[in-house]
Amino acid sequence: MSPLTGLKKGFSVYPITVPTKYSVKSFNFYLWEDGNSLSLIDAGLDSNKCWEQCNKTLSENGFTLNDISKIILTHSHEDHIGLINRILSIREIPVFAHSESIPRLKRDKEFHSLWIEFYKQLYHEMGCGDTGIQNIERLKIELKERENYTIHSDIIPLNESNTISGLQVIETPGHSPDHLAFYNQKEKWLIGGDHLIGHISSNALVEPDRNGTRIFTLVEYIQSLEKCLNLDIESVFPGHGRPISNPKDLITTRLKKIYQKSDRILNLIVAGISTADHLARTYYKDKYQREFDLVMSEIIGHVDYLEVSNKVKKELIYGVWHYTQI
Ligand SMILES: [Zn+2]
Repeated sequence: MSPLTGLKKGFSVYPITVPTKYSVKSFNFYLWEDGNSLSLIDAGLDSNKCWEQCNKTLSENGFTLNDISKIILTHSHEDHIGLINRILSIREIPVFAHSESIPRLKRDKEFHSLWIEFYKQLYHEMGCGDTGIQNIERLKIELKERENYTIHSDIIPLNESNTISGLQVIETPGHSPDHLAFYNQKEKWLIGGDHLIGHISSNALVEPDRNGTRIFTLVEYIQSLEKCLNLDIESVFPGHGRPISNPKDLITTRLKKIYQKSDRILNLIVAGISTADHLARTYYKDKYQREFDLVMSEIIGHVDYLEVSNKVKKELIYGVWHYTQI
């Protein structure tokens, strides 16, 4: 893929694109040359393919690893942070991310236990019973595995008021609580991570914040989409798939789809299905067992959204939330 055209020499985005057979189609991360320095925005998967493509893109454009002066992250999911330790083992450079990324990247043990307690309570209150308990066991294994990939360097926190390498930091929580996008106001583009993907809708995953408080993630995701709708952007470089050339149309479509889905879930609540677990089993059928955590995230996100929109109310009955129409 060629660098973005129309930019004067010394100001260019160089996409590093690694295709995959999975539905995300590719893992994308970016070299950004801002005239003075070269930054790596996101760091792919911890795989040889990503490593080779990163080095290839550097050399094709006349750079080496030693030219990268900082790593900037859109969020802490493993397919965006994979090469950090390889790069840091060659050269110590600063890593910048949202403050919520820090316990996630440090694989903080206290945060992991808080995380497990959070999902235990959440799945119990959402009526998931034994399926919820089984998934907690799976989560414990997953978190243990994650401890093998800890980012050792200091992480410098970024927030909305910051500019980094000439890019405006835009907080875009929703897909993850630590999600950031990086906006080039002059050129009207956004490096968008997983906030907006062209060929698939982005999941708003239910997660606790660093204090263990539950975030209404879909509500935040909607607000982050609306925030981007108000930015003057003409293109988005996403974390997966092809560059997006009509971001405003895509955001409008995504929002419409979310509202339509909420309406369908509201109809099920009106028909008398009152717990998130029962809604998930009814709405997703076989997918409920196969993709339990994703499916529960979706349903919980929508009942939260219906709740803040004053369309449903909830009542705790024997420790389980029951939702009814207002
Ligand atoms: Zn992600």
